Amino acid sequence: MKHGFIPISIKKYVNLHLKHNKDQDRKELTEALDDALSANKHDVKCACGNPIWVIGSALSGYACFTCITGEADPEDDYEIDEACGSDPYQEGDIDRFRFEQASEIIRKHPDNYVEKLEEIGFQWFDDDAWEEEEEEERAAVPQTENQKALVAFFEEGGLLTQALLDAFQAEKYADEPNYPLFRRYFKQINSNLKKLILWGLDKYPTDSGLLDDLSFFQEFDNVLSELINRYKTACLQEENLDRFDILVQDFYMSTIESGFDAYYELEEMFEKNTEKKHIIDRQIAELQESEDELPCNIPL
Ligand SMILES: [Zn+2]
Repeated sequence: MKHGFIPISIKKYVNLHLKHNKDQDRKELTEALDDALSANKHDVKCACGNPIWVIGSALSGYACFTCITGEADPEDDYEIDEACGSDPYQEGDIDRFRFEQASEIIRKHPDNYVEKLEEIGFQWFDDDAWEEEEEEERAAVPQTENQKALVAFFEEGGLLTQALLDAFQAEKYADEPNYPLFRRYFKQINSNLKKLILWGLDKYPTDSGLLDDLSFFQEFDNVLSELINRYKTACLQEENLDRFDILVQDFYMSTIESGFDAYYELEEMFEKNTEKKHIIDRQIAELQESEDELPCNIPL
């Protein structure tokens, strides 16, 4: 394997691909990938002699990365994990690999790293099949005292307290979060969960984790105007410019799919704030640059 592929399972890749190509057939794509993977495992080579690139081959005929894309080396292109078998990162050091992968993604995709990170399963939501997730969510039970307290609050309501907010934050940033349990309440658009997040934001308006949580609701519920207002407040109040930079990226990423252009709005808001405006302008320029390059050139 050439350096630079991002390993991904067939299932995750199919989900990702279908997200952006809604009219493709899941079964057909999975079969094409299975076939190409099997060809790769059986040492089928590109006409030029290189090993075939499974993902590109499934979509456009068996060939290597270079022959398909015309580029010397993959940069942030995916490859099916099983075809990356002999790669050193596959053995053992997976956590370090994921950490490096995350840092790399943030560096390479300053404009859309949230989405990129979501793709590799860092958020509440991962790219496993929807039905399988629903199964997990139905089966999820609270395991820690924090989880029990939170579930009781989600189910029955009650007083909003700092202890509850702390419990929520602790669970979210735990080493092994109980994702299915929390996802269940997000998907239900649980009003108490939403209250807790908004109450947290009242107290800590610039907390980017809570803003992320609110934007996660946007996947299931229409909270767009609330989300926009909360992000604007955060951008106004955040004085640390590094954190401001991240907030601006998150704001843009979490609202653009709903048709809102946060950059446009923020440019006007910070017209007279040289430092903040400079950050916004830099991000706009980076976005334009990355759009010109079209980094994800998976052929169809
Ligand atoms: Zn080739």
